[in-house]
Amino acid sequence: MDQHLGTDAVFPLGEPNDAYADYFSGKSYLAVLTTQGVPTMHVTFEPGCRNWWHIHHLGGQILLVTGGKGWYQQEGQPPRRLLPGDAVHIPAEVKHWHGAARDSWFSHIAIEIPAPGGSNEWVEPVTEQEYCRLEEQEDRP
Ligand code: MN
Repeated sequence: MDQHLGTDAVFPLGEPNDAYADYFSGKSYLAVLTTQGVPTMHVTFEPGCRNWWHIHHLGGQILLVTGGKGWYQQEGQPPRRLLPGDAVHIPAEVKHWHGAARDSWFSHIAIEIPAPGGSNEWVEPVTEQEYCRLEEQEDRP
């Protein structure tokens, strides 16, 4: 058993994210923090795990990084390296993905921006080739 499952985030690791496993490459964990008002989840990714390219229709999403090292990428944009304390606003209708660095667990709070008729569209996996090119595509000063 891995003694270091997850990150050192103060939010819970939760349970294996079986409901969304089809849309993640690698293993992830989900803790539902609240479903009242604004649905808010804590998501933890094992090293190398990332979700598919996806689109939040109508509502968008906010990510608050709670532990580890990860990536966020909008289609057509350089990938953004994520560390604890980082916040990401993902506008509605933007194709993107988020997930762990290859060598680190990663966790974030995911806040669903409420919108009538809002939905998620899972488009396609982030390929191994795309994932391998993150460092070289990163926008560094
Ligand atoms: Mn998203």
